[in-house]
Amino acid sequence: MQTSAAQTDNSPAGNPRLGALSLLMQQTREPPKFADGRRAIRRAFKEVAFPEKLTPMEAADRHRHLRNPGAYSGPWRDSPEPMQHLVEPTNALAMTSPYSIVAVIGPSQMGKSEVGNNWQLYSVIYDPADMAFFSPTKELTASYVTTQINKLLEECPDVAERQLDTASADNIYLKQFRGCDWHFLWPTGPNFRARPFSRGRLDDYDDFDEDIGDQGDAVSLFEGRTTSFQGYGTKLYVNSSPKKGPKRGIEPLVAAGTSKRWWVDCLMCGDPFEMAWERLSFNREGTDLEAASSVIMACPHEGCGGVHYQHHKPELMKTGRWVGRGEMAVPRGKVGDLEPNSTDSYWWDGVFGLAPWATLARQARAAELRFEEHQDEGPLKSFFQTKVGRNYVSRSSGDAPVTVDALTERAQASGYTMGQVPDGVVAITMTVDLGVDRFSVMAVGHGLGNRAWIIDRFDILTLNDGITKLEPFRRREHWSVLYEKVLRKTYPLQRDPSLSMRVFCTGVDTGGSDDATDNAYAWWHDMVAGSRAAGRAALPHTVITLLKGGNRPAGRLLPAPTVDAKRQMKGAPECELWVPNVNRLKDMADYRFRRPTPGPAYVELPRDLGEKHIAELRAEEKVEGLWEKPEGVRNETWDLFVYSLAVMLRLVGLDQNLTRVPLWARPPAARTPEKAPPPVAEQKPAEPVRRPTVQVTRPSPQGPGPTHPKPRRGIRVVSAR
Ligand SMILES: [Zn+2]
Repeated sequence: MQTSAAQTDNSPAGNPRLGALSLLMQQTREPPKFADGRRAIRRAFKEVAFPEKLTPMEAADRHRHLRNPGAYSGPWRDSPEPMQHLVEPTNALAMTSPYSIVAVIGPSQMGKSEVGNNWQLYSVIYDPADMAFFSPTKELTASYVTTQINKLLEECPDVAERQLDTASADNIYLKQFRGCDWHFLWPTGPNFRARPFSRGRLDDYDDFDEDIGDQGDAVSLFEGRTTSFQGYGTKLYVNSSPKKGPKRGIEPLVAAGTSKRWWVDCLMCGDPFEMAWERLSFNREGTDLEAASSVIMACPHEGCGGVHYQHHKPELMKTGRWVGRGEMAVPRGKVGDLEPNSTDSYWWDGVFGLAPWATLARQARAAELRFEEHQDEGPLKSFFQTKVGRNYVSRSSGDAPVTVDALTERAQASGYTMGQVPDGVVAITMTVDLGVDRFSVMAVGHGLGNRAWIIDRFDILTLNDGITKLEPFRRREHWSVLYEKVLRKTYPLQRDPSLSMRVFCTGVDTGGSDDATDNAYAWWHDMVAGSRAAGRAALPHTVITLLKGGNRPAGRLLPAPTVDAKRQMKGAPECELWVPNVNRLKDMADYRFRRPTPGPAYVELPRDLGEKHIAELRAEEKVEGLWEKPEGVRNETWDLFVYSLAVMLRLVGLDQNLTRVPLWARPPAARTPEKAPPPVAEQKPAEPVRRPTVQVTRPSPQGPGPTHPKPRRGIRVVSAR
């Protein structure tokens, strides 16, 4: 053939008739190829053939290329973050695993959702089936898709490449691939009923409602819809930071499963120990920075004394393995048989996550200091839930609660009686609770170091005429009784009854009904406007705090106030409503009542505080982390005390800075015969107070009578206009 001659000849230029073909041959030295039939068929079959056997973790290593500008970018398997703890739960989600549920409890930012993300990418490539993703709300779901899922698709071109081209194949709530769909949903009855899925994922489970559409919890609802897949296997991945305590949400699910914990081998003695928060050792007495600089992980084995520093952590993690129920850790491994279970579950602990141990120690100490100063367990609780990854057990849960008897004894031993202001009180708050037929009122004195004294407790049942029965819910005008009996009330000092203290601020519970709230707002406007006709001065808006109990147990202690535009009156100053986290305030109050001896945070009671009022202080019980009032029990005194803490929080802040208490609200300086009376200016309210019509006189010192013979007492101090 001529072609072979041309090839051997190797001089196409010598044969111009061969033209382009010879040029091509010169470049490739091979004849041009036709389509390779075998390769085309192989490619076509790849879509229908059984995919390669790979674990979900291997799939992530192969197909996922992380993109984190400013942080690590590169193949998943080479990420510098600790990853060892992710492997087993991720692989347990393969359809070949025997589990129907995989559950993880742990702190935030430790890769709980990465387990789910890697499972989803694995599913698309190696084991397609429809999948339903749920997070607590529609907004959170949308935000997860637009940030995390879209990024996942960017990081996994092999998954993105399988996405369908149709118009519906790529939106926020649905992503469609060859062979399977991802549905992004939120927990509602219809979303669970709409269609069954064989695979599901519930992220941040402790933020889900417990009873979805009166049908039950999300895990049961999901399982209830999977019956049509029985025999093919179903998989549900549930994960959360704990928030709901040991009896609800993620914790009981994990506790009832294989319940695996992470064990490592001591780098010094080689004996295994569970790598958990308890193993961290640091200075728990000093500042938060001292805590951070002293942190180590200590080997618990006697005679070892091994100390691991942060730089040992990667080495320690390499020795790690999950040890579940029925198994026991031994050096370099484990023995025993894992108890069979349909749920594979894991306790993740912050000490093997991304956060350096020093950071954990610093945060823990800061939260502890906050508790020591304010008896507020909020920061400790949040630290344990989101940084360590476990439900917080209240400091006081192990102690016997203070009993009614103990408080009665405390009152009997008290050095003052109702209506007296003992030494130490710096400011007095009044708090008012509404009843159908009464205002319940309490006066509390506040001092340095969060000390408190109950100073007065009474109910107002009638108007000033002493006859007309009060109806605070129904009769708006009845609120006027509070002016004389609460706002203008003064209390004599115990050490010198000729001197008395005014009320710093009055807190009023506006909850209970819409009528009550309307009435409270109207009364507030009356008070801050003043009334010439009634001879009543306008009051500064800081002397009344309108309150309503917040019902979010995880909420802030005292969020910024809200202004109710609907109830706002034309031309009047804005009326603010304060909605404290009552559950947390009750924890603080409870802790303070438990303090056994006078000192910081101790609460004192007057000698003659009534039995029923003492009983009311102990009326509520804490059930699964929430304060509850048993049916038919009165708790007003307790509520009033708790609200007095909210009022102080509003006015002096969490640091209880009592220098913020204006002079007029403090105990007056003692007057002795040697000293001249304090200048009038000193008695001025610290706030500019508009008192258009009425001259307010301080309580007459003539009252106490002949037992107080000091000559200077007769001086009358008139407060400034
Ligand atoms: Zn050791």
